[in-house]
Amino acid sequence: MVDIELLKRIVEAPGVSGYEFMGIRDAVIEALEGHVDEIRVDKLGNVIARKKGEGPKVMVAAHMDKIGVMVNHIDKNGYLHIVPVGGVDPRTLVAQRIRFFTEKGERFGVVGHIPPHLQKPEDRKKAADWDTLVVDVGADSDEEAGEMGFRIGTIGEFAPAFTRLNENRIATPYLDDRVCLYAMIEAARAVEEHTADLYFVASVQEEVGLRGARVASYAIDAEIGIAMDVTFAKQTGDKGKIVPELGKGPVMDVGPNINPRIRAFADEVAKKYDIPLQVEASPRPTGTDANIMQINREGMATAVLSVPIRYMHSQVELADLRDIDSTVKLAKHLLEELRPMDLTP
Ligand SMILES: [Zn+2]
Repeated sequence: MVDIELLKRIVEAPGVSGYEFMGIRDAVIEALEGHVDEIRVDKLGNVIARKKGEGPKVMVAAHMDKIGVMVNHIDKNGYLHIVPVGGVDPRTLVAQRIRFFTEKGERFGVVGHIPPHLQKPEDRKKAADWDTLVVDVGADSDEEAGEMGFRIGTIGEFAPAFTRLNENRIATPYLDDRVCLYAMIEAARAVEEHTADLYFVASVQEEVGLRGARVASYAIDAEIGIAMDVTFAKQTGDKGKIVPELGKGPVMDVGPNINPRIRAFADEVAKKYDIPLQVEASPRPTGTDANIMQINREGMATAVLSVPIRYMHSQVELADLRDIDSTVKLAKHLLEELRPMDLTP
């Protein structure tokens, strides 16, 4: 069963890439404390928790950063001009609320929209872009915006909007990757008997170049690495290219970024515990932390464990609670069953 309260807390805790200290870091530490042997935070802000064992040494990583925006200019009329942090599509921001973290606390802004009555025919053909998009924070001048706490460099994210659609489906900003971060936390708590030496990393700055996982990989120097990150589920407009479906269980890639022995082992474990598992073909290195983990030092045997979601990098990312539950179970059993093994492909 998914702990909706904890999931919501993890999803909504602030933490744009590079600013994970604004909330999510403490939320992760609080959720793990008492369930692991040690927790530390490194110089980039990665949270590294350990459950000691003889071996093999395993690094599990779920990124805790979010895509977001940064103020780069405040104009005379008090409007904020913003730039993206990570892969934000400016079209998703129109007529939406943005939650800012100012020097004077949390404030909201809205991205204006030309009323349909006032649009000219050419306006209807134009999509929002970073050059034209501005945020209205209620100020009438740059001075007033400044008094409200806005500065160049103020960080913002999609406003919280956690929505339960029905018994199994939820929609909210930031399932990427907070849903997998939640699953990793639950798995870390659930693991009982284990031989492996387990490191759980809530990694920083994934969305701006897999940067936290890079230094954590070096520090931990594990033999096996499992990145937990979201992947695409079949959705409207996917032109039949996407294979994984919502409600049919977690997804694990196959391809050059994946160690075939770990992947085969995951299949065995899933079968043994009757956990549904979907496959995804990844002919290129995945866009996940596993990309950088695999080529750490002398190499790590990597796999990616994913919760499938729709509408990635929008305010309405959508997931199925049954998939989240199965992901926790598969991660727990996988980590409990891991023994030293030949990792040569
Ligand atoms: Zn992600």
